[in-house]
Amino acid sequence: MGEETETAKPRRTFDSAYGFSFSIAVGLVLFIAGLIISLTVGQGTSIGLIFGIPLLAAGLIIPVFMVRDLFKTNEVSEPCPNCGATIRTSDATLQLRCPDCHKVINVRESRFYIAEE
Ligand SMILES: [Zn+2]
Repeated sequence: MGEETETAKPRRTFDSAYGFSFSIAVGLVLFIAGLIISLTVGQGTSIGLIFGIPLLAAGLIIPVFMVRDLFKTNEVSEPCPNCGATIRTSDATLQLRCPDCHKVINVRESRFYIAEE
């Protein structure tokens, strides 16, 4: 009943997809808020622009930074667990095939593990 089994499933794809849509949503909300403020509150005065323009800019800039950070990958250079040949890939890779021994290798936490076939 109280047995907690820790599954080592790769959650990166889910996290990336979630983070991507989240940053787009944040950007959209800021952009729309800025648009509404500059169009309604301002009404020709500079108050709307003072508050609206930074929000518009933030709505455009924040998602770019968040997405860029999201897709920033670290290079992994580890020996193949089967044949020892050095394989270079990125930590965004979940599975690859060794160019030397053609063994399927799983990539988890920047480490290589031989996949059970
Ligand atoms: Zn190999």
